[in-house]
Amino acid sequence: MTDCLFCRIIAGEIPAKKVFEDEHTFAFEDTNPQAPTHVLVVPKKHIRGLKEASVEDVDLIGRCHLTAAQLARQRGIEDGYRTVLNVGPGAGQSVFHLHVHLLGGRSLKWPPG
Ligand code: AMP
Ligand code: ZN
Repeated sequence: MTDCLFCRIIAGEIPAKKVFEDEHTFAFEDTNPQAPTHVLVVPKKHIRGLKEASVEDVDLIGRCHLTAAQLARQRGIEDGYRTVLNVGPGAGQSVFHLHVHLLGGRSLKWPPG
């Protein structure tokens, strides 16, 4: 998808602070961090969002979460972190390539805003 921001980041066409990459997932620092750790984990395959995902994407969605857990372990924030998928504009989704936010390194309130 040439008009997708995150596809272009994955392709290296737009710079980003990459923190992890494997065959299926790609992770980079959010440019507007909401916590000391704020990383976005995305599948390399373009999926518009959770509501557009299908059963064939089950593995990729799981892998994104496991990548987030691995990064949290590496960063020593396992006392408490959050993975967030904003789904749809009403929940704040602004980039339409599925992404898991990994937020941590500070205390996190519940419920989120
Ligand atoms: P969402 O609002 O859930 O769609 O999340 C999109 C996230 O992407 C926001 O937290 C933005 O700060 C972040 N973002 C937007 N553009 C970039 C970029 N070029 N590099 C890294 N993060 C970005
Ligand atoms: Zn994309």
